[in-house]
Amino acid sequence: MLLVDPGLYIGTAADLNDRQVLADAAVTHVLSVDSVDPAGLLPADGGFHRKWVNVLDEVTSDLLSHMDDCFLFIREAVDGGRTAIVHCQAGRSRSATIVTAYLMKRHQLGFTEAYHRLKSVKQDVQVNTGFEEQLRLYEAMNCEVDSSSPLYKQYRLTKITEKYPELQQVPRELFAVDPAHSSSSEVSYRCRKCRRTLFRGSSILSHPVGEGASAFGHKKSGNLTGDVQCTSYFIEPVQWMEQALLGVMDGQLLCPKCSSKLGSFNWCGDQCSCGRWVTPAFQLHRNRVDEIRQLSIRK
Ligand SMILES: [Zn+2]
Ligand SMILES: [Zn+2]
Repeated sequence: MLLVDPGLYIGTAADLNDRQVLADAAVTHVLSVDSVDPAGLLPADGGFHRKWVNVLDEVTSDLLSHMDDCFLFIREAVDGGRTAIVHCQAGRSRSATIVTAYLMKRHQLGFTEAYHRLKSVKQDVQVNTGFEEQLRLYEAMNCEVDSSSPLYKQYRLTKITEKYPELQQVPRELFAVDPAHSSSSEVSYRCRKCRRTLFRGSSILSHPVGEGASAFGHKKSGNLTGDVQCTSYFIEPVQWMEQALLGVMDGQLLCPKCSSKLGSFNWCGDQCSCGRWVTPAFQLHRNRVDEIRQLSIRK
C-alpha cells in the first residue's frame, strides 16, 4: 500500500492480510471498492471502521453515485487525525477512481491533475474508460453528485440503457413526477391540443447544439443557412410515459389525455435536428407543446 495524501493510502486486497503493515500505518478506516465481500479479509475484532462499495471493474459499473459517500468516509478519518486505506483487488482501477475523486474534491483539482498526482505515487494505476468518464463528469458537476442536475440525470439514463433490454422494469425513481398530479411554480409545458401538463422545465436535458447538416452526412449543399436549431425538447422520462416505454426499444410518445402524437423515444438514442446524438432519447416536438410560465399575481 502507498500513501497518496495525508491520512490516505491506496492498496490491494492482499494488503489487508498484512496486519503488521496496517498497524504500523495506524490504519483505522478501510474502504473496499470490490465485488468480493471484504469481511473475509479482515478479522471481525480488528476494530476497523469499514465501508464496502460492491462493484465490478467494468466500464458499465457506476462509481459516480458513490463518490460523495466515499469522500465523506475518508474525510471523517483524515479530519479525525486517523488513517484510511482504499483498496480493490489490484489497486489499479476501482480504488484509483475513488482516490482520484477524493483528491479532486479535497484539493479542488481537475480530473487530469488529480489523476496525475495519484500516478506519480502509484505508476500502475489505470482507471477503466467508464470510470474516467465518470470522473470527468464529477469534475463538470463541481465534485458534488446532485441528483437534480441534468448531467447526472442523463448519466443515470445512460447507465440504465446499458442494461436494457435485459432489464425487466425501468426503476420507478427514474421517472419524473407527473406534473399534472402536483403543483409547482416552475415553468411547465403542456399539450398544445388539449392543454394537459406534460413536463416541467427541470426535466429538460439540454445538450450542446450539434453541427447541423454536416452531422447528418449530407453532401455540401448550396442552401445551408447556417442556422442550427433543435426542434425537440429532450427530457427525462415522466411517469405518464411508463407504459409506453416498457419492453420495447423505441416508439411514439402520445399525449396521455388526447393521444395526439407528441414525439418519440429510443433507448439506443436518436439524433436531434441540430445533429447531436442523445442517448437514450425521449423527445417531444417543440411545436406540439406550449411553455407555461406562472405569473406571480400581486394581491
Ligand atoms: Zn439539438
Ligand atoms: Zn393532449
